[in-house]
Amino acid sequence: MDIHIIPCLKDNYAYIVENKKTKNACVIDPSESDPVINFLKTNKLNLRYILNTHHHADHVGGNLELKKKFNSQILGFEKDKNRIPGIDILLNDKQIWNFEGSDVLVEHVPGHTSAHIFYYFKNEESVFTGDTLFSFGCGRLFEGSYLEMVNSLKKIRSLPLKTKIFCGHEYTINNLKFCMELDKNNSELKEKYNEISSNIKNKLPSVPCILDDEIRLNIFLKFDDLNFKKRIGLEDLNEVDFFKKIRDLKDNF
Ligand code: ZN
Ligand code: FE
Repeated sequence: MDIHIIPCLKDNYAYIVENKKTKNACVIDPSESDPVINFLKTNKLNLRYILNTHHHADHVGGNLELKKKFNSQILGFEKDKNRIPGIDILLNDKQIWNFEGSDVLVEHVPGHTSAHIFYYFKNEESVFTGDTLFSFGCGRLFEGSYLEMVNSLKKIRSLPLKTKIFCGHEYTINNLKFCMELDKNNSELKEKYNEISSNIKNKLPSVPCILDDEIRLNIFLKFDDLNFKKRIGLEDLNEVDFFKKIRDLKDNF
């Protein structure tokens, strides 16, 4: 199946997964309906399902209009049943949902919100992480504890290394600047920064990123990397305190 990136609002991404043979499609986190409708019309796709990672307006804004227009069904986590507009199918933690013969693993990753989930498309080796993991960053904590977020990031980290990560926002350049500020003299980070900033200048998205790169370079996944913590002088902090420190620094960056 093909995955299409649909820029929405100021810096959001919705994603359309298309079965080339049947022309059936699902959309993940439609922030707004117009860009999604345009793509579906141009490519003559049937929107069967709308998948939401969490209830925030910039992820569900297009739900009702798309549902009405295409008679689609809306999916979300069971604990978000009163917060996701138009929800039809309630998903459980660790459930395998099926789209067009392709298995999709759903996992509960609280922290950004209390009912946030990710969708991992096994055949496509692709995960839709919403506002939990960003490229070189992670979501702010609105409804969860630091411990919950660390555990949620661990769940994403345990997916196969070659997993492609499709996240909810184009925050990559700012995230990289923050990583470079703390992880000084990391030449790999500088290379990434050069590569991605030239893409952004050419209006190309930084997504998808690869999990392997994130594990190596994303500071928010380094809470249990002792060598790294030593390198930046935070070896005395435990996993959660380290994560809290980094998250708080980023909130004020
Ligand atoms: Zn959000
Ligand atoms: Fe968001």
